Amino acid sequence: MEATTPSSTRWAPISKDVAALRVRPNLVDYDGARASFTWDEARRGLTGLPGGGVNIAYEAVGRHASGPLADREALRFVRADGTVRSLTYARLAREAARFAGVLAGLGVDRGERVYSLLGRRPELYAAVLGTLQYGAVFCPLFSAFGPEPVRQRLQIGSGAVLVTTRALYRKKVAPIRDEVPALRHVLLVDADGSPEPGTLDLAALLEGAPDDAPTAATGPEDWALLHFTSGTTGKPKGAMHVHDAVTAHFATGRFALDLHPDDVYWCTADPGWVTGTSYGIIAPLVHGVTAIVDEEEMDADRWYRILAEQRVTVWYTAPTALRMLMKAGAERAAVHDLSALRFVASVGEPLNPEVVVWGREAFGLPVHDNWWQTETGGIMISNYPAMEIRPGSMGRPLPGIEAAVLLRDGTGAPVIRDGEAVVCEPDATGELALRPGWPSMFRGYLDEEERYRKCFAGGWYLTGDLARRDADGYFWFVGRGDDVIKSSGHLIGPFEVESCLMEHDAVAEVAVIGVPDAVAGEVVKAFVELKPSQEASDALRLELIGFARKRLGPAVAPRMLDFASALPKTRSGKILRRLLKARELGLPEGDTSTLEAGR
Ligand code: ATP
Ligand code: MG
Repeated sequence: MEATTPSSTRWAPISKDVAALRVRPNLVDYDGARASFTWDEARRGLTGLPGGGVNIAYEAVGRHASGPLADREALRFVRADGTVRSLTYARLAREAARFAGVLAGLGVDRGERVYSLLGRRPELYAAVLGTLQYGAVFCPLFSAFGPEPVRQRLQIGSGAVLVTTRALYRKKVAPIRDEVPALRHVLLVDADGSPEPGTLDLAALLEGAPDDAPTAATGPEDWALLHFTSGTTGKPKGAMHVHDAVTAHFATGRFALDLHPDDVYWCTADPGWVTGTSYGIIAPLVHGVTAIVDEEEMDADRWYRILAEQRVTVWYTAPTALRMLMKAGAERAAVHDLSALRFVASVGEPLNPEVVVWGREAFGLPVHDNWWQTETGGIMISNYPAMEIRPGSMGRPLPGIEAAVLLRDGTGAPVIRDGEAVVCEPDATGELALRPGWPSMFRGYLDEEERYRKCFAGGWYLTGDLARRDADGYFWFVGRGDDVIKSSGHLIGPFEVESCLMEHDAVAEVAVIGVPDAVAGEVVKAFVELKPSQEASDALRLELIGFARKRLGPAVAPRMLDFASALPKTRSGKILRRLLKARELGLPEGDTSTLEAGR
């Protein structure tokens, strides 16, 4: 079965002229860097614990607290009114140590799970770092979760401690408290002297805690983080990560995000997801940059204002956010001074080539796509700063990462010969796979041994995504394994069809699925969200179908097209195609614990 020609071949590559891109890459010679790279070399960029071992919190703040970066702003919180409050590295290290002291006072054991259900506020950052310093395991929950997803995740990880607010406790934890008996302590950040029954006042505990708690002598393989996946394909999985992951956060922060200590860096991901922790907290602090934290929700004008007023130099965001900015119009960007910005990167979903090119208009810079997963713990494939960007491509594997596209048999399983999986010829579609062994790789799905085991075959970790690799080593996303459409002998990736429709002026966002068809097996159906200036009509529907037919051909273009006011998305901003399909076919909706409200 042949994959269709990607529409992205119509997009010209963007210069690898480093000066033109405004980046200051740490390594300009990409292939040279790849050839000579070893993870041990990356570890030399870290300090390691004075007595041996490694601890993420020590690399992120502990070591900076008494060094030249002590007084540098580590975190700069931007409030709703645009004013800021900052924490220096020394201060953040002290707050983290106090939190570690609180855990000690409560008799929490090393390796026990400490959860957060909090918005982006300073206590959250101190709790993450303090927990890691103490040697306990941190698990962030997204603050917009309802009681059921909170219960499910607390139960899976046997959470012993939860840090939250009074309002969130009342609404989401109190109703399920009886069902999570392992939860011994609930710490309220805003108890204000009168905690709810069954909870403790965190501020009071912090007040009484020493600010010089020791750092646990954790080893590289000690469990540090529990991250639940986005639940895009089904029930979320709890991916376990170890302290050595910081080696990958350091290396990828350098190679993929081009971080330098004088950067003002902003990662828009919520810390309730892996991106918000790996690249919203750990990677920037390890590099000694100043990280912006927006206390508010996504809003186009506010975001441009933050980029301009805070003089953000490196911005890490997601396709859904960029499409929202696109929808608002590039002229909204034009009134802001974005000249400090030298690098924009995106992750989480396929990045339509249209968006990469639009980025040049809005920011004066192309957007660098990169690919990774909760399981990989860090960026794996990236449009590395010093290489030619190919719009629509995820880029190439970072130094230390070996990626391949594996041939699949009729059932979708990798073809194994002599114990080794067979790699596809260039440009053929297959399963995206990674050679295990990088430091931030997950060490298991908590309590789901079988599901974990199934992720490996023929010497590779199987990602569940389908991709192509071109002759120059660039990887092109085709679709999630579950989302690809089989129509009249063609394997159609939803990304390709969506990217084509995104090129039409009327379209703000689009998702496509396959629906059963007696003749073709499946045919493509598109759900289109229009730009605010557009009105849905039968004429526009025909025009859009015609537009796609002309570019993609009748076999690949959608046969059906519906207008939607909002596409269903996970709370991390990913389009839930499986839900669109279930609704279309009248099937059960499955796990919707991460579905954004009102979708
Ligand atoms: P679940 O595993 O629970 O179904 P999820 O896979 O969405 O949820 P995450 O680990 O948050 O959970 O997301 C990783 C996935 O997101 C990748 O496997 C891929 O499908 C998609 N993704 C991430 N970055 C990119 C990218 N740059 N291009 C295309 N897809 C991407
Ligand atoms: Mg996944």
